Amino acid sequence: MTETYSGENIFAKIIRGEIPAHRVFEDADHLVMMDIFPQSRGHSLVIPKAPSRNLLDAAPDTLASSIRVVQSVANAAKHALEADGIRIMQFNEAAAGQTVFHLHFHVIPIYTGTQVGAHAQLRADDAELATMADAIRKAMI
Ligand code: 5GP
Repeated sequence: MTETYSGENIFAKIIRGEIPAHRVFEDADHLVMMDIFPQSRGHSLVIPKAPSRNLLDAAPDTLASSIRVVQSVANAAKHALEADGIRIMQFNEAAAGQTVFHLHFHVIPIYTGTQVGAHAQLRADDAELATMADAIRKAMI
């Protein structure tokens, strides 16, 4: 069965400004925001605005521009948050762990000696998310 994109997913609503988010960066083609259920301190999401469910149905140009943003956010997060490494994750369809069906890339700072948390489980404090968003944003300039 071929799955289709629905504009009613939560990220599409955030892109349209219908639901708030801790925004790190935004331009005409991408939104970067904090994950509200972070797996580590500073876990953010790079979301191309063009509608696609995931990597499987995305336009190659969208993937190319998104990975540039992913690199920029990864470097900024590593520097600003003094992370020891950065994990990039990206899931395609529910069987692979995808829960929101609008293409996105996870940028997860890794801190030596600190375990990465479970996927989409613990809601973070809004003040902490705002602090993280500010720190990453400033390091992107
Ligand atoms: P997926 O499982 O589709 O790869 O990842 C979806 C991610 O979106 C999860 O890590 C989850 O924590 C995050 N998430 C779910 N709902 C919201 C929301 O309303 N706002 C934000 N900022 N992140 C969300």
